[in-house]
Amino acid sequence: MDQELLNGIDRFIDAHQEALFRDIGRLVEVESVEGESAPGAPFGAGPQAALELGLQIARELGLETVNCENRLGYAAVGDPMGERYLATITHLDVVPAGTGWKGDPFRMREEDGWIIGRGVMDDKGPSVLCLYALKYLKDSGLPLKLPVRALLGANEENGMGDVEYYLAHYPAPVFCFSPDANFPLCNGEKGIYHGRMISKVPLENIVDIKGGTAANAVPSLAEAWIRAEKAPAPTAEVEVEAQDGLWHLTAHGIGGHASLPEGTKNAISLLVEFILDRGLAGEREAKFLRAVSLLNRDTAGEAVGAAATVDPEQNKGRFGPLTLVGGVIGVENGRLFQTLDSRYPTGTSGAKIAAAIRAKVGDAAEVTVDHDEEPFYVSADSPEVRACLASYRAVTGEDAEPYTIGGGTYARHFPNAVSFGPEHPERPMPAYAGPIHGAEEAACKAWFLEALKVYILTLLELEKLDL
Ligand SMILES: [Zn+2]
Repeated sequence: MDQELLNGIDRFIDAHQEALFRDIGRLVEVESVEGESAPGAPFGAGPQAALELGLQIARELGLETVNCENRLGYAAVGDPMGERYLATITHLDVVPAGTGWKGDPFRMREEDGWIIGRGVMDDKGPSVLCLYALKYLKDSGLPLKLPVRALLGANEENGMGDVEYYLAHYPAPVFCFSPDANFPLCNGEKGIYHGRMISKVPLENIVDIKGGTAANAVPSLAEAWIRAEKAPAPTAEVEVEAQDGLWHLTAHGIGGHASLPEGTKNAISLLVEFILDRGLAGEREAKFLRAVSLLNRDTAGEAVGAAATVDPEQNKGRFGPLTLVGGVIGVENGRLFQTLDSRYPTGTSGAKIAAAIRAKVGDAAEVTVDHDEEPFYVSADSPEVRACLASYRAVTGEDAEPYTIGGGTYARHFPNAVSFGPEHPERPMPAYAGPIHGAEEAACKAWFLEALKVYILTLLELEKLDL
């Protein structure tokens, strides 16, 4: 790497760091949690105010801005209407504050070189880094082969209606990176299948059953109300109490995200095994619960045959193994249902997974496909990915290989995009620094400045490519 260039970037960062953190603080003060849609504020007043302030900060930095009908906005360097362009994408909406904060979550504080406040890491801080990266390009006066847009979304946390709208009405970037994940770089996301197993028969001994709150999470709590003559003996994991002439069973497991089920214990599984072992269910109910038992026996879709649908030749080691989780059990229209969430590698599909489960459970349940997104993958050898990683290595001195995940981010919506930092889960954090979506959400100032250098250098490298 050109040392002169790196020194110049350092001087730029030194000169602007105070303003940069002040601008992050201004954005944190806007409580941009999704709200009721109103004219001119499709995602609510909070996200709208944050979007307007983000574009205002961009203009203060000398960048041109475009507001895409309040769904998303962008700052640009080079022709803001250029149809072939490079982009970054971040978001200015946040999740609710929740509890456990030591101060006002919407007033940025600083402790020993760390900034603390809702959105400092996810994703207001990274949004400001992108705006300053564009300012560097503009101030440097370097000729640009392609204009660059810093896209600012307003609906990432609740359905990504922002990028959906943008990509339906504006040309997609030639390449785009999203600072809304971990360094070094995420170049693939598993496919996502959501469906249900639905019992074909009415209830018998089970009066009600409830477990889990979201299809994409392993539940930590499941309950059932059952008619039975004698009280079943409780276990360490399942409590039993008498309630209105019924037996109320409560199972406690260990929750977690459906895309990362390792170390979890599905409460529905504990409850269902308890009911089956003690013969508490009616004959027809038991048939369905045995299908649920098979589903939750492991989180890799082994017992229900979903794992076997993956063609390893097609996956070529790009992604880790398939996961399959039953997140919510309940009663609807007098029949039992169990949701299905699978994150699957290349080499299978939602339809194949559902067919395999159908073949295994027979007439115990109907199996639906309610939602299916293919895996998304950008080759680790593409020049764009190589430019990102080379810049990361040059700045940090760390060896860096791309990784893939089971979740869904902004990147999968674009034809050619990756997630690229700025979190460093591999680096130790002080005890007072909280996680994204949690209390005391924190970001290290020095790591942010290092990330800014990576992003500036990456954009310069991408400009050299023939895209
Ligand atoms: Zn985010």
